[in-house]
Amino acid sequence: MITYEQAVNLKHGDILHVGKCVKTVGPRGGVTTKVERYRVASSVKTWVTRPGQYQFTVRYGIQKTTSVVTHCDADLLHLESECPIND
Ligand SMILES: [Zn+2]
Repeated sequence: MITYEQAVNLKHGDILHVGKCVKTVGPRGGVTTKVERYRVASSVKTWVTRPGQYQFTVRYGIQKTTSVVTHCDADLLHLESECPIND
């Protein structure tokens, strides 16, 4: 998950991972990773009157689909630098 602090410090072009990232090691040692990525495509919007809330736009996939991410989605996301498969 991402914290409020992490979210409000995101910049245009930053990468987020969505859901659960999976790393599989094959019988001959080949490593396959399954990672779904969001690229931040706007600045992060916050409101003085709505503390703890934020919103930003992301793009993902080959079609560069655009979607809006809010504080409600924090549980689904993590920073690329904090990805559990990097351990
Ligand atoms: Zn990840």
